[in-house]
Amino acid sequence: MPMMNAQTYEESLRRLNLVVYLFGKRLTTVVDEPIIRPSMNAVAATYDLAHRPEYADIMTATSHITGMSINRFCHIHQSTDDLVKKSKMGRLLGAYTACCFQRCVGMDALNALSITTYDIDKKKGTDYNRRFLDYLRYVQENDLVCDGAMTDPKGDRGLPPHRQPDPDAFMHVVEEKKDGIVVRGAKAHQTGAVNSHEVIVMPTLSLKKEDADWAISFALPSDARGITYIIGRQSSDTRKREEGTIDRGNRAFGGHEALIVFDDVFVPWERVFMYKEFEFAGDLVERFASYHRQSYACKVGVGDILIGAAQTIARFNGTDSTSHIRDKIIEMNHLNETLYCGCIACASEGSRQPSGTYCVDTLLANVHKQNVTRFPYEIARLAQDIAGGLLATLPSEQDFRSSEVGGWVQKYFRARSDVPTEHRMRILRLIENITMGSAAVGYLTESMHGAGSPQAQRIMISRLVDMERKQKRAKELCGIIDET
Ligand code: SF4
Ligand code: FE
Repeated sequence: MPMMNAQTYEESLRRLNLVVYLFGKRLTTVVDEPIIRPSMNAVAATYDLAHRPEYADIMTATSHITGMSINRFCHIHQSTDDLVKKSKMGRLLGAYTACCFQRCVGMDALNALSITTYDIDKKKGTDYNRRFLDYLRYVQENDLVCDGAMTDPKGDRGLPPHRQPDPDAFMHVVEEKKDGIVVRGAKAHQTGAVNSHEVIVMPTLSLKKEDADWAISFALPSDARGITYIIGRQSSDTRKREEGTIDRGNRAFGGHEALIVFDDVFVPWERVFMYKEFEFAGDLVERFASYHRQSYACKVGVGDILIGAAQTIARFNGTDSTSHIRDKIIEMNHLNETLYCGCIACASEGSRQPSGTYCVDTLLANVHKQNVTRFPYEIARLAQDIAGGLLATLPSEQDFRSSEVGGWVQKYFRARSDVPTEHRMRILRLIENITMGSAAVGYLTESMHGAGSPQAQRIMISRLVDMERKQKRAKELCGIIDET
């Protein structure tokens, strides 16, 4: 099957029979719900851009199992060049949609599993890698979106899975059958969940022997029986149901997250990629986390838009030639390009794993993500500084269009006489959307907590840096020879 485009992707979603709840009610048509649709549009962009000749090199790749040209989101990285192109793809799509385009989690889950299933088989003589490759072929040939589902609800953070008062706080196996397993639990904060054809489940943390029932990884169709989605709220989400487009900020695109509940769901053995090999749970988590920390190249693309918006509002306000505004724009660009350095560096310093898959440099991926937990917040702060307080006090589009008060909105919110008030409102709403509206979930909160909260990266950095070597050479250089 050739790669899907935006239209065939939308049609494929309409064929799914998802159980989705929003505001306490089951949705009858998921794709047409105004709160969901912008997020579907953002995923559709990953299909659309793959058909544009100017982006072919970044958006497509050659499958190492079929030799077919495929969407890069379904690809297993075969070189550091592939990894670098993945970072460039993230920036490209971030700057195209100005939001989370959701498809990276599945790509990262596929790549992590391509490594870990191979490693488990080598040590245990299991058959997971063959199952995985069969599954990968299915995903690539049908050009599917996979939700990479890692984060469990986790219950009491001080207790391991087997000691939780509610064992369902972490996804686990409840029954073993001849033809498969039955699982129960949930995955929280699932990016793009209802825009996915498949869901790939992984453990959420390193596990010990007592937690073997929780050491499971598998894939299922997103509409498998027993799976329910509960959509998460975002700031200003109901603006997407309003008339007009000004107050949405971003006319076309958005993201969504959901809680996915697995209520005794059957998984056939062919779709099980880890079953009680607890000693590999941490490895799978670490692989996925490293890939996903690299994926935050997307924030650089969203940053490009926010910087463009800040420059535009400065010009509309008549402040763009002021020295402190110019300096703030320089600072925003400096921070954004520093982020880009990180996601390019961890990709180009990646290495070949025994399975043949290339993985990013783990230390640099963690350093990059640590920067991502900070710099977008500073870029957002500077954008709000440049925009001015009107960002948070602007009347609605209905007032702007009102026959009674619209004239005053036009008159009193005009800045430069050659810039229409509506243009000023639109660019302010875009800045609002990214820094405090629904897209702030992706640009800020996701930057903080997605792919692991800041402390997770600090632990990895302390584990991965070679402090012995640093100290040894420092001592040699200053003449400390015999100190142990
Ligand atoms: Fe991809 Fe970024 Fe969205 Fe994560 S936050 S799924 S990396 S676009
Ligand atoms: Fe994420």
